[in-house]
Amino acid sequence: MSTISEAKANLKKYFGYDSFRPQQEEIIQEVLSKQDVLVLMPTGGGKSICYQIPAVSLPGTCIVISPLIALMKDQVEALRANGISAAFLNSSLISAEQQKVEQDALSGKLKLLYVSPEKLLTRDFYNLMLSLEINLIAIDEAHCISAWGHDFRPEYTQLRFLKNKFPAVPIIALTATADKVTRKDILTQLQLTDPKVFIASFDRPNLSLNVLPAQNRFKVIMELIQKRPNDSGIIYCLSRKSTEEIAEKLRFSGVNAAHYHALLSAEQRAQTQEDFIQDRVPIICATIAFGMGIDKSNVRWVIHYNLPKNIEGYYQEIGRAGRDGLKSNTLLFYSIRDVALLRSFIEESGQKEVQLAKLERMQEYAEAHTCRRKILLSYFGEHLTEDCGNCDVCKNPPTNFDGTVFTQQALSALARLKEKVSLGTLIDVLRGSSKQEVIEKGYHQIKTYGIGRQISALHWQQYLLQMLHQGFMEIDYEHEQQLRITPLGKEVLFDKRQVKLIKPDEIEKRIRENIEKSQEKPKTQVFKEELFEELRKIRLDIARDGNIPPYVVFSDATLQEMSEKRPTIEEEIKKISGVGEKKYQLYGQIFIDAIIDFIKKKNEEGERIKGSTYIITYDYYKSGLSVDEIAQKREISSATVLSHLTYLYDLGQEVDLESMISIQEKEIIYQAFDTVGFGKAMKPFFEYLQEKIPYDKIRIASSIYKKEKNIKFENN
Ligand code: ADP
Ligand code: ZN
Repeated sequence: MSTISEAKANLKKYFGYDSFRPQQEEIIQEVLSKQDVLVLMPTGGGKSICYQIPAVSLPGTCIVISPLIALMKDQVEALRANGISAAFLNSSLISAEQQKVEQDALSGKLKLLYVSPEKLLTRDFYNLMLSLEINLIAIDEAHCISAWGHDFRPEYTQLRFLKNKFPAVPIIALTATADKVTRKDILTQLQLTDPKVFIASFDRPNLSLNVLPAQNRFKVIMELIQKRPNDSGIIYCLSRKSTEEIAEKLRFSGVNAAHYHALLSAEQRAQTQEDFIQDRVPIICATIAFGMGIDKSNVRWVIHYNLPKNIEGYYQEIGRAGRDGLKSNTLLFYSIRDVALLRSFIEESGQKEVQLAKLERMQEYAEAHTCRRKILLSYFGEHLTEDCGNCDVCKNPPTNFDGTVFTQQALSALARLKEKVSLGTLIDVLRGSSKQEVIEKGYHQIKTYGIGRQISALHWQQYLLQMLHQGFMEIDYEHEQQLRITPLGKEVLFDKRQVKLIKPDEIEKRIRENIEKSQEKPKTQVFKEELFEELRKIRLDIARDGNIPPYVVFSDATLQEMSEKRPTIEEEIKKISGVGEKKYQLYGQIFIDAIIDFIKKKNEEGERIKGSTYIITYDYYKSGLSVDEIAQKREISSATVLSHLTYLYDLGQEVDLESMISIQEKEIIYQAFDTVGFGKAMKPFFEYLQEKIPYDKIRIASSIYKKEKNIKFENN
């Protein structure tokens, strides 16, 4: 049986990760001891590792059942890129391909075999399973088993045969959908034996949460895009038409964007999705039809151009950002108009009450003046004790002012208008607009006409929303969205209640402060970003050559760490999270070379950047210069040059130290080592040798000695 420490070693070897995430380790431990488990983890939480690591750590093959054909291919590609042999069987393969996979499975070559539920239920596949040594059965997207869920798959209900026919094989069921009914359904239908249930937190702290009023949306989006034009992002829109229009507008502004919705042909949709995954088109304007079954880990932002109809959908959509765990932004544009539109859709559909209630929760979230993450998570039954610090409200807590007069003005105008107008007309009247409708209806004759002229229409809208939110007025959706004054509003009107409002400027300030801080960046940050862009280009080239998605080569997280730490030798780059053995063999040197080039380029430009000094020394050394010559060129001491070279030698680089010391010198120094006792400090040897042998020589001998005797010191 395999142990958890072997599992950990495999995590480093195949995936290049140093440690398991919370819960992964416990889950894997259970699986390794043949326990059935159910795993509930949010998208991006790291579910796949929970069965992939046992699959490679145990003898035999793991069968993975997955309903998403497109995803299967990506997962298999990603595994192969990590040096794990995997394959899939589904309806997309021609029969020769199928046979090949089956043969590979039978010969015991495959560590993971992905299969669609349809295929799993065939007699052929059952026979194949009988001839295999199966170490684990993983059921991905396990919520598909539940008729209550949103992706019900009838075939999934037949999966109970697995436990009946293969009682000795542990089953791991995984899903990102958390509700209780579904959870129970999974457990009963799969007939798991005494299953352990793991429920991970649904918090995604790396996603920033931002909400802005739906004003100047395009301008805001452009600002965001222009900061990092190569970043991948999704703009979710309510209508198919707006996906097309916004994509068109973006392209017109020089941004590479495409649109996606359900009415495009299957080929067009597949193409757009592929372009996005492969980083050919960074930005997709889409309806919510887009995103299901996309595993792309480097989506850096998600914007909701319109209000989503409920929090479940919203959370799932923003969850597509930042799967790699890196900071990612989300932005929701909020408008009352969208609320009205969504309400009208709901009116026409079934389950009205439930859906309206869900929309209201969504609205409350959008209008919140308290930590948004708390609201989100409490919706899913999780309660944060602290404010999150990564939402617009936390970062920019709103301050109140006495808005009683403004509110009274609005309410009094509304009263005089007999509560027969909508938000837009009320603003027109308050601002003294001479629009035809206002004049025709005689609204310009009422006493409060023009009373709020000094406030812009956009700001009035902001204030009115706040008044709505605080319950001083409400919208009558049944009657042309006319505004009504509530009893609470009457109290304000008759001076019995004070109102606190928030300045619209503050809300607008958020975009600048939160989407991305664009203040002067420290030099190191600039270098990091520049190098990241370079590495990203290289990744793209490699991906295109191999026809694989760029994030399969290395994730953004891995490239970020490389840009920060700038590894220039094997030992260093292997420490970067995400650089496993196979990836090192395939791409390690390419990235090292790129990093060295970058450092050299910076040096030529007169910049000194950390870690570079060794590289330059080594570069001169390789071009054939002697220690003294290098010292002269670099205007540093020979001792420093030598310390660089011995350091590199210690790390396993090719440096011919032997030629820098004579055999006799070496012998004398070795003798000192043996007599005094070998150690890190050079001074004892120097003194023992009566200060007759220079430090340089002792240092050289020490490096050679260490290598011969295979001695390693901590932090060396
Ligand atoms: P899920 O299937 O739950 O949506 P994935 O399994 O795709 O999530 O994992 C999300 C991302 O996190 C992937 O890029 C994956 O490689 C990475 N990841 C998973 N486990 C670890 C870990 N222990 N250390 C670092 N990265 C991890
Ligand atoms: Zn917060």
